[in-house]
Amino acid sequence: MTEIEPLSEADAANEMMRLAKAIAHHNRLYHADDSPEISDADYDALVRRNNALEEAFPHLIRADSPNKLVGAAVEASPLAKVTHAQRMMSLDNAFADDDVAEFVARVRRFLNLPEEAAVGLTAEDKIDGLSCSLRYEQGVLVQAATRGDGSVGEDVTPNVRTISDIPEKLAGDAPDVFEIRGEIYMAKADFAALNAAQQKAEAKVFANPRNAAAGSLRQKDASVTAARPLRFLAHGWGEVSAVPAANQYDMMRLIESWGVPVSPLLGRFDSVADVLAHYRAIETRRAELPYDIDGVVYKVDRLDWQARLGFVAKAPRWAIAHKFPAERAQTTLEAIDIQVGRTGKLTPVGRLTPVTVGGVVVSNVTLHNRDEIGRLGVRPGDRVVVQRAGDVIPQVVENLTRDEARDPYVFPDHCPVCGSEAVAAEGEVDVRCTGGLICGAQKFERLRHFVSRGALDIEGLGEKSIAEFLELGWLDKGPADVFRLHEHRDELLAREGWKEKSVDNLFAAIEAKRQPDAARLLFGLGIRHVGAVTARDLLKRLVTLPALRMAVEQMNEMYRLEDGTRIPAPANYFEIDGVGTAVNEALRDFFHEPHNRALWDDLLSEVSPPPFVVETRASEVSGMTVVFTGKLETMSRDEAKAQAEALGAKAAGSVSAKTDLVVAGPGAGSKLKQAAALGIRVIDEADWAAIVAAAG
Ligand SMILES: [Zn+2]
Repeated sequence: MTEIEPLSEADAANEMMRLAKAIAHHNRLYHADDSPEISDADYDALVRRNNALEEAFPHLIRADSPNKLVGAAVEASPLAKVTHAQRMMSLDNAFADDDVAEFVARVRRFLNLPEEAAVGLTAEDKIDGLSCSLRYEQGVLVQAATRGDGSVGEDVTPNVRTISDIPEKLAGDAPDVFEIRGEIYMAKADFAALNAAQQKAEAKVFANPRNAAAGSLRQKDASVTAARPLRFLAHGWGEVSAVPAANQYDMMRLIESWGVPVSPLLGRFDSVADVLAHYRAIETRRAELPYDIDGVVYKVDRLDWQARLGFVAKAPRWAIAHKFPAERAQTTLEAIDIQVGRTGKLTPVGRLTPVTVGGVVVSNVTLHNRDEIGRLGVRPGDRVVVQRAGDVIPQVVENLTRDEARDPYVFPDHCPVCGSEAVAAEGEVDVRCTGGLICGAQKFERLRHFVSRGALDIEGLGEKSIAEFLELGWLDKGPADVFRLHEHRDELLAREGWKEKSVDNLFAAIEAKRQPDAARLLFGLGIRHVGAVTARDLLKRLVTLPALRMAVEQMNEMYRLEDGTRIPAPANYFEIDGVGTAVNEALRDFFHEPHNRALWDDLLSEVSPPPFVVETRASEVSGMTVVFTGKLETMSRDEAKAQAEALGAKAAGSVSAKTDLVVAGPGAGSKLKQAAALGIRVIDEADWAAIVAAAG
């Protein structure tokens, strides 16, 4: 069992409630709808976590504990219900070799056997199919039922009669009543062919062979089942009128002799080491087996011991399923597509020849970014190893075609959505579209930012309206179009949800921003690294937006080679605290893109921001130079600087003879010592807040 971290009872109870709901939800998707939305490995992780919690907090076990239910209830099924004569059990899981050793030790303890006593075990591959119980009376098939919730399943007798692996009559001398239990499954090759045919017919494509088998079997019309290539492997029995052998292995061989298929990999072993060796051998052959398996099942061989061991909750004490770790598979990377996110990030997505990994068909993988493609050295056409592990998003873990000599994949330098230049800033792995407000992929997010409270602050122009206007094509040219919305007044009034008053209010709110604050407008453009504070800092120095643009273009002129290649400008080019290389380069990128220059001109033809002035209030610190040091607890460093400015003070980065005041938070070090040495007044954050409050 997995250890769990220290946890309060309330938290544990909460988590167990959430797990019960989540597991029930995924059970339903898996068993009733045949359309799982998480991987088996993730599902197992939920179950394991729940089991660990139930072990640590046994008094909190819920009435609807996942361990008290098997599979999914069958109420939604169109098929008739069948009550099983003997409950269909499920199996406990082992994930590590130690779990298997512990299982055998538990069996010994329960049976009170000495430690050296051999416990004979059968081992067979655990096929990933649909459990089914076949009832034979006088050797003739009379009923077939799915597992359902373990107690009540669905009657699939006519469907099962169409499966060629399942004999109508048992060969040889079977007891009067004998229920054979096993898995109905679809072979990998048959699954691929079925899905191809379904796709061609534009019918439902199945997620994996197990779901295809379930969907094919649970049909009201058995002729549909007959047309599907279903198979069967027996692994046990239910109600029987006689038990004709003394152990599991011999029973399975008898069933096989009656004409019912049994796994060719079934073996009998006397030690943990031997079953584990068999497990490894099966694991090695897993990929080449004609059907999907997800582990190996061990059962105590002696039937008298099985009877003594009995059951706990829903599972037998005498059997355990040893699951395989996350599966990997090989396939071909057919293409690399570039997706542009809402923030302009270009994400490469690998398109694969569909392949089943961990029971799920995978046809797309994320390749994360340009560096990841470089690390893997992948190009379209390569053979790759795909893995589905703890997370649901599959990934490429290895490139089998790797060849250092050939030309690498060239990551696009233009946005596939809008055609603007796409660049990675110095030291960053992500390549971003510089199109911003004109990029279709980013428009919505950018416009939302443009009108948001920190930027233009246009009341009444919310997400819903932006989405609506974008849809209508009224904001195609970007933010300048916001100021031309009034041209659509009549059309807007004709639309549902818009009344004269709301339209007038919206247009009035927009008109009120024809002379916006220049710093807010600059911030609203969403240029990377140009936040609200940086926008103010830039405009304090450059005063107007045209002056800012001219300064950036001048920088471009000065810092480029003769062939036009850009070289970095000095970090302190603008001599503004907090404006360094990242901001400089982002501004250069922005104005380098022709789309952005056009957008800028268009916007400034609609609005006229007055020259930027910092409004200050008279205060105790007006005219002083203030230094903030240490950790500030109620505000950010930027906010503190903005406050100082608003009070007519200058915020400086270091303590010198010119410093008038030091505001020190916890952890202030050398600056505090310097201030003491220079005899400068030092106050704390609360004193500072009092000064700000006093200025009104
Ligand atoms: Zn773009």
